[in-house]
Amino acid sequence: MIGVLNNRKQEQQSLLTDARTLRNIMFNDSQTTLNHKLTLRIIELSIVTMLLALIIRPLLTELPVSFMWVGIADLLTISIFYFTVRSNLFPKWEIALSLLTVIIVITPILVLSGGVNSQLAFFLPLYPIMAALIGGHKESVIVTLVIISGTILGTVFSEHITDLTNEIYSEEKTIARGFWLTISTIFSAFFGRFFLQKYTQLTKQLKEENIQDPLTGLLNRRGLNLQFKRELEKAMTSSSSSLSLILIDIDYFKKINDKYGHDIGDVCLIEVAKVLSSALRKHDIIARFGGEEFIIVLPSTTKKEAQLIAEDLNYLITQGKFSEFSLPLTITLGVTSSREQHDNTLDMIKRADKALYRGKDNGRNCIELSD
Ligand code: GH3
Ligand code: MG
Ligand code: MG
Repeated sequence: MIGVLNNRKQEQQSLLTDARTLRNIMFNDSQTTLNHKLTLRIIELSIVTMLLALIIRPLLTELPVSFMWVGIADLLTISIFYFTVRSNLFPKWEIALSLLTVIIVITPILVLSGGVNSQLAFFLPLYPIMAALIGGHKESVIVTLVIISGTILGTVFSEHITDLTNEIYSEEKTIARGFWLTISTIFSAFFGRFFLQKYTQLTKQLKEENIQDPLTGLLNRRGLNLQFKRELEKAMTSSSSSLSLILIDIDYFKKINDKYGHDIGDVCLIEVAKVLSSALRKHDIIARFGGEEFIIVLPSTTKKEAQLIAEDLNYLITQGKFSEFSLPLTITLGVTSSREQHDNTLDMIKRADKALYRGKDNGRNCIELSD
């Protein structure tokens, strides 16, 4: 028993860490962080490619000086955009800023080289992915449409733009690039959407796995801790509402395992979980607290009402027959209620635990209320 109590202390300590982890999962922090990092990688890729183009291109072909100045200005613009996204100063404006950056960066090059004749235009398909990451599906579609319209206009009016500059122009190249640019922009938008959907689905699955006990399907301790905290905070803010807690431990469960095997023990746990859950109200929270221990949080419930619920639960279990061997089981229950001010989940669990162990000392199969 002392061992069990020591374990319990360690477990209670780990509740705090669990709550932090779960909060991250619940608020999808990890997804936002990953999206943000991927966006930064995409911009870094653009910067590196632009920098390389700026250094290597003049070695291969002779370009007008204006190209170099526009390249440098673009590099500066995109670097400023990069640091703005990285500093996370204006998260709500990132989509608008990225579009503005695209326009500032791409337009002068498009004008200089005759519409989509510019190789820089091939950066454009990166933007629907980035829009999906930092915005969502809607933003990705908007950015895709803007880019496709720009590409079509750039393709159709290239000749007129080139007439302004009288620089490098090839109709054949323009049409071919315009076509591929449109295709790759659509492809990128699909990729961005697919990626987001898959990632959201995986995050949701992970979240569920993290808060669910695989054997009984009830909440596990992490899930409980999160919901318990939320309910207790609610009870603390509304002074009239009290919250109760029942801690349940199956009596002599080790004997079941020893005599019938672990598998039958598991079946008993699943069935006990079902009986307990079926007796609860919609807003009550039940979780598997440990091996053969369950915990029930009863919002808006006084200690007296919780005692009545505990009596019902005890009755249902003693009346039940568990597993194919129709085994009788009994439980011991510890009941506590929130104090009017400054109560916390750990203290409540400690009080219920103390009551429960008093019940064990008093011969089991009973209900004990905390002081
Ligand atoms: P007490 O009345 O004092 O609670 O006696 P007990 O035998 O129930 O208590 P003890 O803590 O000594 O033993 C709990 C047992 O529960 C030990 C372990 O084998 C069993 N148990 C814990 N988790 C599981 C599980 O997931 N499946 C099965 N089959 N047994 C489990
Ligand atoms: Mg136990
Ligand atoms: Mg037990």
